[in-house]
Amino acid sequence: MRFDIVSVFPRWVASVAEWGVTGRAREQGRLSLHCWDPRDYTHDRHRTVDDRPYGGGPGMVMKAEPLRQAIQAARGADPRPARVLYMSPQGRVLDQEAVRRLAQTERLILLAGRYEGIDERLIQLEVDEEWSIGDYVLSGGELAAMVMVDACARLLPGVLGDAESAAQDSFSEGLLDCPHYTRPEMYAGRAVPQVLLSGDHGRIARWRRQQALGRTWERRPDLLDGMQLSEADRRLLED
Ligand code: SAM
Repeated sequence: MRFDIVSVFPRWVASVAEWGVTGRAREQGRLSLHCWDPRDYTHDRHRTVDDRPYGGGPGMVMKAEPLRQAIQAARGADPRPARVLYMSPQGRVLDQEAVRRLAQTERLILLAGRYEGIDERLIQLEVDEEWSIGDYVLSGGELAAMVMVDACARLLPGVLGDAESAAQDSFSEGLLDCPHYTRPEMYAGRAVPQVLLSGDHGRIARWRRQQALGRTWERRPDLLDGMQLSEADRRLLED
């Protein structure tokens, strides 16, 4: 999967693919990341990418033209078509199902805004979708773009080993994940639940499912709203 990120902080956003799972995905050739700095498409001495808002008011607005040229350069760098996603608090809030669908795309161009945002005409002309990473406001779209890259990269085939499989992660089956334990068996007076030491894989699977259901019911009951629970799940939840 190829990501092109348009940002005034290209080195920062590129660092998302330097370490950990995303770094490994890049080394394996499953993920590639290319950054485009709109300042490289300015023609004044100060490499200006922002200007005062029409109508007055606080802050600055990102100018359309340098962003447009950066996006077009990114588009032209690979023959495969690319959707342009503007990372924006006004976009649809990202969730695991959306990430799963986006991770099936061959190419995405992510646009990171700054200041008060981007000239609306650039959004109308170049942006296909707007995505938010939550109902709060960041000072720039870089972290949001990095979140998008990380969340997609770990779903790419072959990126996670069995031990880190995404299949049991929270949201992958609509539920929160169950609790996890590792050595030692007793820590600060707290024991690992006996069932996990039993070696009985059926019981362990049922316990994990029950924990996942219980946690979801306690912490995020909204996730259960649209779910069709099986009879077995219903019994586990009632126990
Ligand atoms: N004035 C804008 C508004 O209220 O909608 C906020 C601008 S914000 C300070 C600057 C940039 O940060 C935005 O253009 C966007 O790219 C990014 N950003 C801020 N919050 C975000 C969020 N929750 N999700 C994704 N991007 C966000």
